[in-house]
Amino acid sequence: MSAPVPTRYGVDRTTLAAVVAGLGEPRYRADQVWAGLYGARTPLDRVTSLPRALRATLADALPEALDVATSVESADGATRKWLWRTRRDGTEVETVLMRHPTRATVCVSSQAGCAMGCTFCATGQAGLDRHLDPGEIVEQVVRAQHACPQRVTNVVFMGMGEPLANYEPVRAAVDRLHGDLGLSARQITVSTVGVVPGIRRLAAEPWPVTLAVSLHAPDDALRDTLVPLNRRYPIAEVLDAAAEFAATRGRRVTFEYAVIPGVNDRIDQAEALGRRLAAWPGRGGAHVNLIPLNPTAGFPGGTPSAGRVRTFATALARPGVTVTVRRNRGVDIDAACGQLRARAGGGGTPIAPPRGPRAAPGAPAATMGA
Ligand code: SAH
Ligand code: SF4
Repeated sequence: MSAPVPTRYGVDRTTLAAVVAGLGEPRYRADQVWAGLYGARTPLDRVTSLPRALRATLADALPEALDVATSVESADGATRKWLWRTRRDGTEVETVLMRHPTRATVCVSSQAGCAMGCTFCATGQAGLDRHLDPGEIVEQVVRAQHACPQRVTNVVFMGMGEPLANYEPVRAAVDRLHGDLGLSARQITVSTVGVVPGIRRLAAEPWPVTLAVSLHAPDDALRDTLVPLNRRYPIAEVLDAAAEFAATRGRRVTFEYAVIPGVNDRIDQAEALGRRLAAWPGRGGAHVNLIPLNPTAGFPGGTPSAGRVRTFATALARPGVTVTVRRNRGVDIDAACGQLRARAGGGGTPIAPPRGPRAAPGAPAATMGA
């Protein structure tokens, strides 16, 4: 595959300085560009510290990586989705912005498609197109910010792709989001299907991001059928790595569980998961975020009833697990998105109080941040 061309949010500061110098501009101009794009989160054509002509020249020299294919907003204006087409090769990726009075969360894609093949996931059913580069990941957040009247506070890697299967670009993107765009590392959530070496690597990074682990089953026999990667990294190994992450970072880990009617939503399955997670050593006990299945074309499963999800949640919460249920918001714009529509609304309704002092309302912010 050809090397990515320099893009506006793909270049590092040194490369940007070289581009600016190549245009015959003084050095401080590069600082102004950087401060405008990241510090002030301003689109290049509105960085008014730069002469208008230079903004236009730079726009040509450093093009954006993403073109809008479609963009839709929910009727209440709280949720907005984009389908982007990359300039590099026209591949399509999705991003969702969710706004609340006190925070705004961007759900980003880390890959175009995904190779992990989880059976119930639209992205998994389509397979991997390619990895995204750091600029393509960062630009999703920045472009969402440009469309957002409030400051983007949270980023979740819960769009298309498995972030830990595209480790280096995701690491570089987190570096930029944290170090340059000024997002708190805790407000950046990396969601993984259980790439154990990636979880261990993430635990050793300088910034303490939040980790979310997608479980979907209480036992390996069932998880094998839903998440092919489980045959390589079974539940016990994934939980070990997650516990190590929690211990070394002092961070809470969230477990995600897509509730699939007739497959993983029985009471005895909730109890088995509860028993397994009751022993979770992480701070504040285990936290599970239930995601009612979003039906997809390639998987025979419907949406569970609200009552069923609630019963499952109650049984799971009994041994002391904190459980939240993601509620759907912005349903009127779901048609435009593939897998992301399952999580369009983000949001979590606390079902059971946490053990210890942790405040339950913080939980949704750590995952989809709704
Ligand atoms: N690859 C990562 C992150 C992207 S998927 C991961 O798997 O964790 C983000 C979340 O959406 C995961 O928990 C995933 O299992 C869930 N998900 C995928 N397809 C879904 C569907 N059809 N219905 C409900 N949740 C789904
Ligand atoms: Fe990939 Fe996550 Fe979908 Fe599994 S659930 S196929 S890991 S995007």
